[in-house]
Order: sequence, then structure tokens, then C-alpha cells
Amino acid sequence: MERYLDILPKSLWVTTCNSGSCNGCDIEIVACISPRYDIERFGMKLVGTPRHADVLIVTGPVTKYMTERLRRIYEQMPDPKAVVVVGNCGSSGDVFYKSYNLDGPVDNVIPVDVYVHGCPPRPEAIIEGVAKAVMKLESLREPKKVGEAES
Ligand code: SF4
Repeated sequence: MERYLDILPKSLWVTTCNSGSCNGCDIEIVACISPRYDIERFGMKLVGTPRHADVLIVTGPVTKYMTERLRRIYEQMPDPKAVVVVGNCGSSGDVFYKSYNLDGPVDNVIPVDVYVHGCPPRPEAIIEGVAKAVMKLESLREPKKVGEAES
């Protein structure tokens, strides 16, 4: 993980969306901000609004009820932004695959950059998944720097 944190240009602000999960993955995300894992020591901060977030963590397989809400949350985030799916449900649908009440998995609804597998994944894996999102954010910032140099 140090590899990713070496290139961390700024503190990452992270927001979450439960798109229909059983809450198991969400509990592991809460563990990430507990004193034992304390992601804020890496500069990663959970924020309550997508308008302030760089990274969106999604849990759950995306029920039909949540499809438009998930899209709206994604659209409210400023660019550059990255999406991390936490858990097998959101990554593939898992045991709920092809359920009558799903529009998911998550990449059927919004673009996904990092998949963190597990049911639920351990907090270490979730923290690494968020750190990997830095790679995407950096690649999106790069062309802007080139453009600035040309003008
Ligand atoms: S991946 Fe497992 S723990 Fe996470 S939401 Fe799905 S069933 Fe629950």
C-alpha cells in the first residue's frame, strides 16, 4: 500500500453508497475508520456528501430502487473521481445475480475503477482498494497538466 500512498497528491475524501447490501460490507467500512485501522492517518476522510468526494465506495448489488439514486450520487461528484466497489454483491451480483429486483452489478449502472472482492472483504483490502483509486485520479489529472504546459 505504501506504493500508492507515495504518490498520494492530497488527502482523499471518500463517500459511500449502500445500493442494497446486507450491511456486512458497510460494517467493515466502518471498521476502517475505527481506531484499529484509522484511515484518516493516511489522509483518507469519510465525507457525508458526494459533492465533496474524490472517491465513491459502493456496497450491494444495486436494487432497482437504488439505481437512479446511485446514478445521481455519481453525477454529483466533481471530476476527477473514482469508484470503488466493495464486496462480491456489487462486483458481480454474487448469489443475487439475475435476481428479479436488481439492475446491478454496479458496473451496469456507473463506471467502476476498483473491485474489492470478499463477502465481506477485510478492512485492509478495502483500504488498499481506495488507495488504488489514486492511480485513476492521477491518470485523469495528467492530461490537464500537459494542456496547461501547451497554453
Ligand atoms: S458481499 Fe457479502 S457482506 Fe457484502 S453486501 Fe454482499 S452479502 Fe453482504
